[in-house]
Amino acid sequence: MTEKPTSCYACHRHFGRKNGTRRSCHHVWPKRFFNGAGPKVYLCEYCHQKLERWIPFCRKLSTTQYEEVLEYFCQSRRMK
Ligand SMILES: [Zn+2]
Repeated sequence: MTEKPTSCYACHRHFGRKNGTRRSCHHVWPKRFFNGAGPKVYLCEYCHQKLERWIPFCRKLSTTQYEEVLEYFCQSRRMK
């Protein structure tokens, strides 16, 4: 069994029970294109919602591009 992280991958806030702070699993490569393959990270619901807006819904990117989007997103969250 792998240990689940207790804080958000992007903003590093601890997961909680309140709205927006719950742990959610993000598929770095969208499930709609990759059927659940590829890396996963755990984000708070708040970051997860924001991040989904950075990712084009209909257009498929390369796996490297998805990883870059995630990295840029994390950098922008950590600067706050
Ligand atoms: Zn977060």
